[in-house]
Amino acid sequence: MSDIFSKIKNGYKLFKNIDFAQLEAISKKVDLQEMMNAFSHLDEGQLQGLKKMMKGTAKKQKDLPIINGDFYDLSSSLSDEDRILQLKVRGFLEKEIKPIVNDYWLKAEFPYEIIPKMAELNICGLTYEGYGCPNRSFLMEGIIAAEMGRVDASIATFFGVQSGLAMGSIYICGSDEQKEKWLPKMQKMELIGSFGLTEPEVGSAAAGGLTTTAKRNGNTWILNGQKKWIGNATFADVNIVWARDLEDNQVKGFVIEKGNPGFSVEKIKDKMALRIVQNGLITLTNCEVKEENRLQNCNSFKDVAKVLQMTRAGVAWMAVGVARGAYESALKYTRTRKQFSKPIASFQLIQNHLVEMLSNVTAMQTMVFQLSKLQDQGKLTDEHASLAKVFCTLRTRDVVSKAREVMGGNGILLEYDVARFVADAEAIYSYEGTKEINSLIVGRAITGFSAFV
Ligand SMILES: Cc1cc2nc3c(=O)[nH]c(=O)nc-3n(C[C@H](O)[C@H](O)[C@H](O)COP(=O)(O)OP(=O)(O)OC[C@H]3O[C@@H](n4cnc5c(N)ncnc54)[C@H](O)[C@@H]3O)c2cc1C
Repeated sequence: MSDIFSKIKNGYKLFKNIDFAQLEAISKKVDLQEMMNAFSHLDEGQLQGLKKMMKGTAKKQKDLPIINGDFYDLSSSLSDEDRILQLKVRGFLEKEIKPIVNDYWLKAEFPYEIIPKMAELNICGLTYEGYGCPNRSFLMEGIIAAEMGRVDASIATFFGVQSGLAMGSIYICGSDEQKEKWLPKMQKMELIGSFGLTEPEVGSAAAGGLTTTAKRNGNTWILNGQKKWIGNATFADVNIVWARDLEDNQVKGFVIEKGNPGFSVEKIKDKMALRIVQNGLITLTNCEVKEENRLQNCNSFKDVAKVLQMTRAGVAWMAVGVARGAYESALKYTRTRKQFSKPIASFQLIQNHLVEMLSNVTAMQTMVFQLSKLQDQGKLTDEHASLAKVFCTLRTRDVVSKAREVMGGNGILLEYDVARFVADAEAIYSYEGTKEINSLIVGRAITGFSAFV
C-alpha cells in the first residue's frame, strides 16, 4: 500500500515540475515517446555524460566573448561624430564590399558599380580644407583606411590612390585654379585619379633617378617615358605623372587627362596580390601637356615627398586593418572548427598564436593612433611615417601568416578571406617605399648618417 502512495507522490511531484509550454515546443521538434524510450535505456554513466554535454553546449553558446580586434578600445577615444562615421563606413564595407570581393579578386576586375555608393559616404579628400572636402582629422582618415583594410586591401588601395595620392598631389602641389578645377569632382568621385611615379626600371630610386622626361616648348610640355604599377590608371580620368624637367633636372608634376594623345595604358595582368586594383603600365610618347596642367607648386622631388609622407601614414593604417581583419576571421574560425571533439580555440597552442596576433594588432593600432595625433598637430615627419609603414606592414605579414596557419587547409581557400589577406599583405609590404627604403629614411634620421647609395 505504502508503495502505491509513494508512486503517486513522486508522480505528482514530477507533474508539478513539468513546463507544459516547453514540453509542447519540444514535442514539435522530436518524437517525445521515442526520446523517453531511448533515455530510459541509458545507464547512469551515459546519462551523466549526456547531461554534461548539454550543459557544456549551452554554456559555450551563451558565454563566448564578442570578437573585437580593438582590444584596448581605442575607438572609445573618438568623438561621437567620428564614431558614427566609422560605423557608417564599416556598414558600407560589410554590406556592399564583403559579399562581392572574393569574386572580383578572382576575376582580377574592379567593381565599378561601388563608386557612386562609396561617394555617398563623403569620405574622399577627408582631411583637405575647401574644394568640397570635409576637413576632418588625419586620425579619422586613418580609421577609415583601417576599416577598409579590415574588409579588403584592394578597395582600400583604390581609395588611397584616389583620395590620398592623386587628390593629395593636386592639393599639395596644385595652384588654386587647379584645385578648383579637379578637386570638387574628385571629392565626389565623379573623376577618378591615378598617381604615376614608379617606372619599369626605377622603383626605390625614384627620388633622384626618374627617366621619364618633360621638355618645355612654349606653353606646352612634351613627355616621354613609362610608368609602371600605376593603380587605377586603366580607367582613371586624371593621371598625375611625375617627370624630370630636361632643363633644370628637377621633378615636375603633370595632370594628364584621359584620352590625351601620346598617353596609353596597358593593364598589368596576373598579379598574385591586390588583384582588384587595376595597375597599369603607362607609356608616354611625345605626349603633349599644356602648362596649365603642370602642377604649379611642385619644384622638385621634395614636393612629391610631402605627398608620400601623408599617404605612407595611410598605408600603415591600412595594414593595421588587414591584420585586424585576418585576426578576427581566424578567431571566429577557431571557435567553431572542432578537432578531437573540441573547438580548436580551446587548444593552448592555438591560443598562443591568437594572442601573438592580437599583440601585434594592438601594438600597431596604438602606434598609428599616436602617428595620426602627430599628423593632426602638424608634427609628422618623414621618419615618423616611414617607421609606422615599416613596422605595420612587417607585423601584418606576420599576423596574416599566423591567421592562415590556425585555419589549416581552409586557410588557403578564398572563401575564408584570410588567403586574400595573406596575398595582399605582400603588395602593401612593398609599395609606397619598401621596408629597406623606409628603414633607410628612419636610419638617417636617428643616426645622422645617410646610408642611401
Ligand atoms: C600592387 C602595387 C601597386 C603599386 N601602385 C603604385 C602606384 O599607384 N603608383 C606608383 O608610382 N607606384 C606604384 N607601385 C610601385 C611601388 O611603389 C614600387 O614597387 C616600390 O617603390 C618598390 O620599387 P620596385 O618594385 O621597383 O623595387 P626595387 O626598387 O627594384 O627594389 C627591389 C629590392 O631592392 C631593395 N633596394 C632597393 N634599393 C635599395 C637600397 N638602396 N638599399 C637596400 N635595399 C634596396 C628594395 O627594398 C627591394 O627589396 C605599386 C606597386 C605594387 C606592387
